[in-house]
Amino acid sequence: MAHAEATEQQIEWDSPLFLMARAQYEQSLPHADISDDVAERLAFPERALIVSVPLRLDDGSMRVYAGYRVQHSSVLGPTKGGIRYDPEVSLGECAALATWMTWKCALLRLPYGGAKGGVRCNPRELSQRELERLTRRFTSELVREIGPETDIPAPDMATNEQTMAWMMDTYSMLKGHAVPEVVTGKPISVGGSIYRREATGAGVVMTAERACARLDMPLPAQRCVVQGFGNVGGVAASELHDKGATVIAVSDISGGVHAPDGLDVPELHAYVTEHGSLEGYDKGERITNEELLELPCDVLFVAAREDQLTVENAARVQARLIVEGANGPTTLEADAIFAERGIHVVPDILANAGGVTVSYFEWVQDLGRLFWDREEIRVRLADKMMDAFDRVWAVSEEKSITLRQSAMVAAIREVAGALDARGIYP
Ligand code: NAD
Repeated sequence: MAHAEATEQQIEWDSPLFLMARAQYEQSLPHADISDDVAERLAFPERALIVSVPLRLDDGSMRVYAGYRVQHSSVLGPTKGGIRYDPEVSLGECAALATWMTWKCALLRLPYGGAKGGVRCNPRELSQRELERLTRRFTSELVREIGPETDIPAPDMATNEQTMAWMMDTYSMLKGHAVPEVVTGKPISVGGSIYRREATGAGVVMTAERACARLDMPLPAQRCVVQGFGNVGGVAASELHDKGATVIAVSDISGGVHAPDGLDVPELHAYVTEHGSLEGYDKGERITNEELLELPCDVLFVAAREDQLTVENAARVQARLIVEGANGPTTLEADAIFAERGIHVVPDILANAGGVTVSYFEWVQDLGRLFWDREEIRVRLADKMMDAFDRVWAVSEEKSITLRQSAMVAAIREVAGALDARGIYP
């Protein structure tokens, strides 16, 4: 295909993670039936920005951090995607995550394209005041890129409602009036949506429940393992617990805890709220994150970060179903091993799309200055997640391809249809 030639030259965003996102795309293209021109255009992010962000530390010294924002596609509408604070943030990582956001929004039929950004830093070493200054300066560096009609940030790893409130405030100060619709995932007091905080984890469990039903594995009878105990994994663990499933192991960056008869999830949350992490929690066997991924279980939720299920451990995974709460947790090689072993993987662009879906509801509510209640949001979210799940399942059955390829095919067709109609400018 023509773009193979163009991309033989390395571009700055050609990191291993971006090449993985592109390889997933290329593997799905033969099933998507779109034109070569459109396929080539969508293989590239539209725009990428690197900024340097000076930060005055609490001790009076100054450090400069690298910040990024990548916008993959504006075909369907403004771009949308999280901001992460992490030592591994890079242009290539943002490009991969922005690309996945395009497919995720399209799959859910949201009028958005994908973006992602972040600052390369270790957020655990920064105080709240330092994080506030970092966020405000990063936002001012992005002020020409972001906006309610162009690019709308949201929380991601190590960013949260407070981060979004600082972003919203900084942007609003620069514009001279309140612009709540510039970010999503804000506190409710400044135009955030009820249920946004729970939406990703809740959506992960909605899709897991649907997949379990299709596979004749009723959710309450399943033993579940959850990697990552943050916004996504922590909420998913609670939802699983509330629905009667047995959560036998969870982990965070400090390691994991395993109790074959089931963990007390509310107590784990109370512990993390008090101590900041799972470190030191002793009601269960302490295990490493590597061991956690290989535990005997029915459903494995990977909700920490990318690159967790790889050629190194995929053959030893003992789950019957894998659900991707995180973005990009499964490498291409691991995916092939799971397909070979008959282990279904509910892919990230479907499983964790609840967050961006309720972000979309938040943006719509902000633009309309009219707010919905929790039940309305939960019902609308469930409708969208189930509709997307069923479309993906149908493509998978029709074409005998994996759920990831089916999700990609369904998403690519949405964007390609719009790009075909619009044409490639000029
Ligand atoms: P978070 O910072 O709230 O939580 C991340 C969790 O993973 C923490 O418990 C952290 O300790 C743990 N962790 C980090 N590195 C780890 C490692 N190497 N091994 C085990 N645990 C590790 O972040 P989050 O918002 O929950 O995001 C998690 C993943 O979900 C990311 O891939 C993110 O892109 C994706 N995601 C988040 C949202 C959202 O709405 N927050 C939406 C879609 C996708």
